[in-house]
Amino acid sequence: MANLSNPSEIAREALRLLAVRRLAPSPENYRALYHEIAGTASDAGEPFPERELRALLAALPRQTVVQQRLARSFESAFKARNWPELRAGLADLVLQLGKESDLPWSEVLADFVRQWDAKQTGLTVARKREALERVLASGAGGNNEVFFTRLQGLVRSWASSEPGSEEIPLVAGATPLGLAVEAAAGAAVPSSEATGVAAATDELRDLFVHTLAVIIPTLLADEPELLADTRMLADSARTANSPAAVQGLQTRLQNFAFRLELLTEDRGEVHAGLLNLLRLLIENVGELVVEDHWLKGQIDIVRDIVARPLSIRSLSDAESRLKEVIFKQSQLKHSLNEAKESLKQMLAGFVDHLAEFADSTSEYHDKIEVCAERISQAEDIGQLEDVLAEVIRETQIIQLNAQRSRDELRAARRRVEEADQRISQLQAELDKASTLVRHDQLTGVLNRRGLEEAFNKEVARSRRRHATMCVALLDIDNFKKLNDSLGHQAGDQALIHLSTVIRETLRPHDTVARYGGEEFIILLPETPIDDAQTALVRLQRELTRRIFLHDNTRQLITFSAGVSELRPDDTLAMVTKRADDAMYAAKQAGKNRVLIA
Ligand code: GH3
Ligand code: MG
Ligand code: MG
Repeated sequence: MANLSNPSEIAREALRLLAVRRLAPSPENYRALYHEIAGTASDAGEPFPERELRALLAALPRQTVVQQRLARSFESAFKARNWPELRAGLADLVLQLGKESDLPWSEVLADFVRQWDAKQTGLTVARKREALERVLASGAGGNNEVFFTRLQGLVRSWASSEPGSEEIPLVAGATPLGLAVEAAAGAAVPSSEATGVAAATDELRDLFVHTLAVIIPTLLADEPELLADTRMLADSARTANSPAAVQGLQTRLQNFAFRLELLTEDRGEVHAGLLNLLRLLIENVGELVVEDHWLKGQIDIVRDIVARPLSIRSLSDAESRLKEVIFKQSQLKHSLNEAKESLKQMLAGFVDHLAEFADSTSEYHDKIEVCAERISQAEDIGQLEDVLAEVIRETQIIQLNAQRSRDELRAARRRVEEADQRISQLQAELDKASTLVRHDQLTGVLNRRGLEEAFNKEVARSRRRHATMCVALLDIDNFKKLNDSLGHQAGDQALIHLSTVIRETLRPHDTVARYGGEEFIILLPETPIDDAQTALVRLQRELTRRIFLHDNTRQLITFSAGVSELRPDDTLAMVTKRADDAMYAAKQAGKNRVLIA
């Protein structure tokens, strides 16, 4: 369009455009076109700038429900051209903002943190948390003012329970971390901005210290080491006031976070293990009728394990022992009951027949006596014939009886033989089944099968944790001599003694297994090789202290051992072979020593 400056030319052009654009020749349209051509602003009477207003409404934030509601109400007012409603809505909003910014949030929050940390009579952290949760739930309605008042009321009520405290300080002071950040921010940041950053950092620090000093410890009741570390970290966080201190804190926090992660992982495993164990118990409680001495012992062990603080290892130990109990019990119960029942029946029947037989023979005896009397008194052959006929009849009866008893006795003997066979078959089955059992029946430590399982679990754990694990193999020195001089039973007692000392001397999470006759394997998770050797040497010392007594004579048991560190792709056989070689070297070198592979 040509740049027109003459008013009459502008007026003519405006009229032309009215026709071209087919607009109604109203004063408003003429005025709008006139200003458009002249490039001037329209005066107060011009139509509402719809385009700009629509753009403005489109730019309103709509992240929260409240924002969406506001935007919708503005839009509907705009559509209805209800300018008074739009104006009132805007005024209300501005008023609301003003009110919220008036609320002294930072003061009440600083006070809240102080009261949370403080000790009040009759108030535990749990009760405080409960009260806070109630306020939070009531504040969710969206009215910040009400929420603010309730929170303030809560803090005041806590403060009034604080011994010796009447006044609530309402302003949080600047903390050293804030100063450090300010200093680090340097001259590049305008000072008002730096103050803002410092204040925000102070708040953040308070929150962080609160998390470390109050919240995390509630999760670590069973972890004294981590608990102590949390407290130390909270102290450091409170006082770190130089970039170097903040850097140091960061490194320690990273380490701490990693350990927390491991702990969480462990707790997950404990949980799963516990659930498994419970399921096993519930499913099999009907099978746990304890008659056998060994079974009773196993049940006692399980009860013991479950009574101690739970760990992944103790749980898996309890589980494997329980499986053995259930297995052995179910095998024994059915078959032994059957065999016992048929033996009982057979014996009862035999006794009955024996009594019957005795009765009938004494009856026979009496009758024969009467017959003999009658024979001696017989006066003619006719009388004798009668008596003889009676003797023959009675003898036939007793013969029949004897034959029946003999047949029954034979049948009974057959049944005894069958029962006997069933019992020995059961015995064989149990023997075979004992390969499914995970613990050595003499010493109670794991057997080879149990070792294999434990090894796989420990290897998986070590690899997950990138931790070193060691395997030790120990063999009693001159055990044959002990057996030969004191007897095999004394040898057995010595094996039991050694197992007990090993279990009680090493750490609870080390695993002991009987590998062969007088050879034992020990798994030492999270142990570097030198520490593994030291542990075995400590065991040697303990064995000389807790000496084995046989018939009140002291018998010194010594052993030779080899230790080997687990390599990335090792199987149990591979690492055991290296430990065995080292053990052999220890024997060659004079026994009673521990060598590293
Ligand atoms: P070294 O110091 O070289 O190891 O000599 P040693 O006598 O200990 O070794 P050897 O292997 O010659 O003898 C081991 C003996 O252990 C042989 C066997 O009689 C005995 N033994 C194996 N298992 C048992 C068991 O369960 N009970 C008993 N009492 N003895 C066992
Ligand atoms: Mg041996
Ligand atoms: Mg030996």
